Amino acid sequence: MLNEVLQRVLHPLTFEQNPSAKSVYYNVLCADGNFISCKAVIAAWLADCPEYSNLHHLKQHVCFWCECPKNELGDYVPPAKQHPWRDHNLYSTLSDANTKAADAELSSCHVHWGFNMFWHLPCIMSDLPKSDLLHTMQFGMLDHLQKWIFHFMKMQERLDKYNAISSSWPAYHDLTTKTKSYEEVSQWNGKEMQEMSRYLLGVVTQSARGGSPTQRPIFNCAIECIPALLEFNMYAPYESHDGATLSYIEDALCLFHNFEDVFLLRRGPNQMPWEGNLWRSER
Ligand SMILES: [Zn+2]
Repeated sequence: MLNEVLQRVLHPLTFEQNPSAKSVYYNVLCADGNFISCKAVIAAWLADCPEYSNLHHLKQHVCFWCECPKNELGDYVPPAKQHPWRDHNLYSTLSDANTKAADAELSSCHVHWGFNMFWHLPCIMSDLPKSDLLHTMQFGMLDHLQKWIFHFMKMQERLDKYNAISSSWPAYHDLTTKTKSYEEVSQWNGKEMQEMSRYLLGVVTQSARGGSPTQRPIFNCAIECIPALLEFNMYAPYESHDGATLSYIEDALCLFHNFEDVFLLRRGPNQMPWEGNLWRSER
């Protein structure tokens, strides 16, 4: 059903319907009845992982962009060692072949057999620009980060201190004076999120001062990991990138992965990864 709907919506963009699409120009029928040669700039929308699996005909819990093995998902992959990208032409050929061997090969890539509309578009879906920083970065990453810090401070019995510092942030340049703590703000908007990302590290660092010998490595780890995410978030919205800014983003990503264990907050109270000797001080 999903693919049938997609086929109806996206069919005008296919090679079959528009042979001129190979030169990235389309003949588009306009409201005045004339055809105009247009260069379509196709963009995409970032969906949640389960939605991607359905849209791309993939099995659950796999990467839609590359053929990363399931057990390596979430690991840092240096640019020179990227996994092979998903080859939609190959998937389309294998699916059309409809043989046992072809089916086995599709299965080994965690791809379902059958027609998928995205395999027939003159573009690589995963490479299309996805222009929604508000939801992916601010309401996705930053919101998750804030929630995590809140629970982290609670478990480390630093919440009062954290609330006191974050709600007394003075006006500085264009930052708005803060009078409410994280809990007291019912809904954060994009501007508030962006402002928060500029003072969050200072608040966390001050809230996590001192601490017992067991707390110190945990606090240090959080203080290393948080700026990596914030830096990633600050470079990502640049309107253009060069080798230097891309390398800064890559460094931030790498740094985040070095300390990401601190984010392994388990469900339920007092179940941080380092508890019960699970915290690996030798990391
Ligand atoms: Zn991937």
